[in-house]
Amino acid sequence: MAQNYRITLLPGDGIGPEIMAIAVQVLKRIGEKFDFTFTFTEALIGGSAIDATGDPFPAETLEACKTSDSILLAAIGGYKWDSLPRHQRPETGLLALRSSLNLFANLRPATILPQLIDASTLKREVVEGVDIMVVRELTGGLYFGEPRGIFTTESGEKRGVNTMTYTESEINRIGKVAFETAMKRRKKLCSVDKSNVLEVSQLWRDKITEMSADYPEVELSHLYVDNAAMQLVRSPRQFDTIVTSNLFGDILSDAAAMLTGSIGMLPSASLSHPGQPGVYEPVHGSAPDIAGQDKANPLAQILSAAMMLRYDLNQAAAADAIEAAVIAVLDQGYRTGDIVSAGFEVVGCKAMGDALLKALG
Ligand code: NAD
Repeated sequence: MAQNYRITLLPGDGIGPEIMAIAVQVLKRIGEKFDFTFTFTEALIGGSAIDATGDPFPAETLEACKTSDSILLAAIGGYKWDSLPRHQRPETGLLALRSSLNLFANLRPATILPQLIDASTLKREVVEGVDIMVVRELTGGLYFGEPRGIFTTESGEKRGVNTMTYTESEINRIGKVAFETAMKRRKKLCSVDKSNVLEVSQLWRDKITEMSADYPEVELSHLYVDNAAMQLVRSPRQFDTIVTSNLFGDILSDAAAMLTGSIGMLPSASLSHPGQPGVYEPVHGSAPDIAGQDKANPLAQILSAAMMLRYDLNQAAAADAIEAAVIAVLDQGYRTGDIVSAGFEVVGCKAMGDALLKALG
């Protein structure tokens, strides 16, 4: 009998439902081609969940996520909910999803497609051939360390405090994801830290170095974060896989993403331990300015679905086929508004989806 996968779909807000609809069509088609099926369960998150239940991450959504093989998310948020108190905001739903599923590893590829090279703000000769994967630690470090807060000192002055901490086990689990990701790629791993100044980074560097003994095929290097930022812009082709902490990864993954110049093209994966479901989503937000107008680029969502097939469902050939279809439609000249350049006509979200289905055969 054909393998069946249980997928929770979280379309969210803004352009979310439009791009998710295309992703579902593509997944169904790819299932037919590769002889597996999906059971899709749609659940609420973000603003649409607030409107329906008052809660940005309802208990039923968590339950659906926990009992599925994988989770495909579109995007959350919008002007309508911007003035709500923080605990009721759409973004709070996203953070709750990440923490309740223990998604400690965030994978963000930044790949330059030859068809879109002119969308980059950097020179062609600098960005041509760039293919980087940033592995960012997502549930520890400066964003979660204690103590934190704004305190008043004895002299009455206010003092803001955050704490950067990593335990050995936190470093080991993200290190393992990074080495294994590098093994599936070009076997080069660059660990980024600030160990010349920070003890927490010294421990990070020591542990990652220790782990490299288990991965003799992976060429490991270390960079200080300031140098890494400079090298990313100066000569990005030198990088294959980058592993770094929550704060540094937040900044470097955005810088790496912008090498490609097109936010509507960038997928991401947030992973927990093997065997537990990950969350796959575009890097972009809910684009409320173009929602409901058939203007959204669905390709980041489609490429997120491809990552889901590759990492959670172990269907690498199906993931390859989706990625090839994306290249094919770009080769055929299909461009949504965010990636259009001189000489191309703009197509809408649905037309891009139809072209993809055609390319998949
Ligand atoms: P955004 O990514 O939604 O939009 C930035 C710009 O890029 C807009 O001009 C938008 O039209 C364009 N854009 C984004 N995705 C596109 C796509 N697929 N196709 C074509 N154009 C696209 O960022 P923002 O405007 O800062 O945020 C809008 C809302 O999204 C906010 O409520 C924010 O909190 C939320 N947000 C959510 C996520 C998430 O769900 N992970 C991430 C970032 C922002």
